Amino acid sequence: MWQSAYSANCRKRKVPKVQELSVSRDQAHDAGEHLYLSTSAFALCYQCAKCSAGCPIAEAMDYLPHQILKFVQLNLMEEVLGSSTIWLCAGCQTCAVRCPMEIDLAQVMESLREQSLALGVPAAERRITVFCDAFLADVQLRGRVHELRQLLAYKLKTRDLLSDIGLGARMLTKGRLTMKPNRVDSVDQVQLLFDKFKLPKTHD
Ligand code: SF4
Ligand code: SF4
Repeated sequence: MWQSAYSANCRKRKVPKVQELSVSRDQAHDAGEHLYLSTSAFALCYQCAKCSAGCPIAEAMDYLPHQILKFVQLNLMEEVLGSSTIWLCAGCQTCAVRCPMEIDLAQVMESLREQSLALGVPAAERRITVFCDAFLADVQLRGRVHELRQLLAYKLKTRDLLSDIGLGARMLTKGRLTMKPNRVDSVDQVQLLFDKFKLPKTHD
């Protein structure tokens, strides 16, 4: 059953392209070594593809989740770090539940995103990283997200001002977007967290 869904998915998905990376092959290779040392569980993957067959985002990915694991096993980190897959993964854990080897693929994806940021690899899905940056900027400033400000920051950065205008207007009329931002009492504590972890910008 899952095999036919998987085959159909393969036919529909985009042809993968190796993205031009701003890191050298050696740096990407080192990232693979680091990942290998920190989470060796993925070495157990035997490519049954149950993870990919159940992944709700697979259709939008350039490489399927099990292909990402194969690349990691082969230390083909340029392909991995330049892929859209690592950014599109929603961390839903469906793959982990389905995996006969109990590999936590969501955690591997998270680790790959961290490696990508640490190496300054341009994200293949820039909109996702812009959204994350807008979210974190708000949390850093007030300890709480102001959706309207986050939305405007995202729209300005992506230069896509009109696509959701109808939805935005409906959310405003239903009171889902407030005009006045809130702030938590201890913003300084939040700031300490940001300082401690030196959170990097995820784009530009
Ligand atoms: S389900 Fe597990 S073993 Fe199968 S391909 Fe995916 S990660 Fe590998
Ligand atoms: S955690 Fe990521 S890779 Fe796994 S099923 Fe969910 S979206 Fe797909």
